[in-house]
Amino acid sequence: MQVFTKRHQLESQVANWHKNNLKIGYVPTMGALHAGHASLVEQAIAQCDRVVVGIFVNPTQFNNQEDLEKYPRDIEGDVDFLKPFGESIIVFNPSAREVYGNHVKSMHFDFAGLEDKMEGKFRPGHFDGVGTVLKHLFEIVRPDKAFFGEKDFQQLQIVKKLVEIENLDIDIVPCPISRADDGLALSSRNKRLTEQERTEAPFIFKTLAEAKKLYPANAPTAIKQWVEQEFEKSKILQLEYIEIADEDTLETATSFEENHTYRAFIAVFAGDVRLIDNLRLN
Ligand code: AMP
Repeated sequence: MQVFTKRHQLESQVANWHKNNLKIGYVPTMGALHAGHASLVEQAIAQCDRVVVGIFVNPTQFNNQEDLEKYPRDIEGDVDFLKPFGESIIVFNPSAREVYGNHVKSMHFDFAGLEDKMEGKFRPGHFDGVGTVLKHLFEIVRPDKAFFGEKDFQQLQIVKKLVEIENLDIDIVPCPISRADDGLALSSRNKRLTEQERTEAPFIFKTLAEAKKLYPANAPTAIKQWVEQEFEKSKILQLEYIEIADEDTLETATSFEENHTYRAFIAVFAGDVRLIDNLRLN
């Protein structure tokens, strides 16, 4: 398995693949890899001839400096984790300078309102950072398909919009959420949970799953209120937001209508670790 850190290495490899008409799959990650990332890599290998796994902790998508500094990093562990994939993949682990040059700065995007709510509201500038880094990385990797987890569902919708507004010929492939046996969505941030926080954290998915049972008999506001009350019982977990939204537009649902798909979205703090999850209601 090759690990490239320079963009010119990857660009010449990609040019060669394109010349040979090979279909390129791309799995961008921020490292501290887990089975959720592996499931994306497996899908990419199944659907493409060559696969690039990106590992890059993107500074511009962090609105909080401390969160960026504390983000788990383990490039040696990640390379070992990916070794079983062998020659099926290439790892791209660039520095910020390789990706951004001398301007480690966000561009501004208009994602048609998808960026204003939930993660965008609570993490100002986050999706400008995501859009900027992916615009750069897509230019370097030039994939035919890129694989994104539904764990970050709002990000997935924004990436689809980015591809549309930038007129990129990239197929965005959504991948289901991988969970631990107790329901907790796998996340690099789970590594930062204390033992007690880790024990409590499955409450997030459990509450979403219970909320789903209230659909469609109860109105969206009633379901959200019920979730808020449930979280008042927890001494360890602090609810940041619960939202019920139309899956396509991410607009807040005020009532449930036919021919729409709805999803519950949640962000919760366990100590200073911020966890997100979501669940389709219908
Ligand atoms: P991250 O390294 O957290 O930025 O995630 C990189 C990619 O992996 C994103 O497309 C995430 O949505 C996806 N991902 C992260 N955790 C999971 C999970 N538990 N299940 C499925 N995909 C995931």
